[in-house]
Amino acid sequence: MTASDENQHIGLFGGTFDTVHEGHLALARHVLARCRLDSLLFIPAPQPPHKGQPIASFFHRAAMLEATLADCPDRQQLQLSLIEQELSTPSYTINTVEALIERYGRNRYCLIIGADSLLDLPHWHRATELLALVSLIVVKRDTIGLPALHQALNSIDPSFVLNQLQGKWFGKNGSTVEYLADVQLPVSSSTIRAELSQGRIPAMLPPAVFTYIEKHNLYGWRSSP
Ligand code: ATP
Repeated sequence: MTASDENQHIGLFGGTFDTVHEGHLALARHVLARCRLDSLLFIPAPQPPHKGQPIASFFHRAAMLEATLADCPDRQQLQLSLIEQELSTPSYTINTVEALIERYGRNRYCLIIGADSLLDLPHWHRATELLALVSLIVVKRDTIGLPALHQALNSIDPSFVLNQLQGKWFGKNGSTVEYLADVQLPVSSSTIRAELSQGRIPAMLPPAVFTYIEKHNLYGWRSSP
């Protein structure tokens, strides 16, 4: 991405990616197509504010993402951004968005999160300002339903009103939150790490990531127990 790319519609997909999995990729592709984004940035966090210390180092997590994206036929649109490496820790998303705007101009940024992250959003640093800068795209996860999501949003800004037909909330300052309930991906990094530590090769682990994990002996992987 360059400063001259202004006025692009760009998806921001932040996370720990400890490790990246096929769910992350499927979700990214779904949002890319459904929301007609020009590109989508995977943004690994050196130190996520609301999770414990990651298991793998930032270096390894970024390298696993890089290996995965290099293998993708749509790698022109699915890109890796290491911008949070240059910012202060913990890695607050508002700081990342402000840094992107400063560097690359206003564009149209949308932030992509799973429903579990929306429940956590009221505790995010400067959440109201974040929602004024980006539109939010929330992807269904686990059994989390609309009432819980509605409650979380309203605790940030009580003016959010849900338009059931559009599956979208509208806030009074122009903020929008879109809920995508048509995709469900029952996979998580933690279950993948658990499988690896038991010597099993997880079905939802991209092949390039498994090769990397094997080479660097990550997550307690051992081939013959
Ligand atoms: P962990 O199991 O350690 O909690 P994770 O699978 O949630 O990890 P993260 O890197 O923390 O992976 O997730 C980054 C973002 O992707 C978060 O917003 C999370 O909600 C979302 N996400 C990850 N996996 C899914 C999934 N299967 N369905 C929907 N959203 C997901």
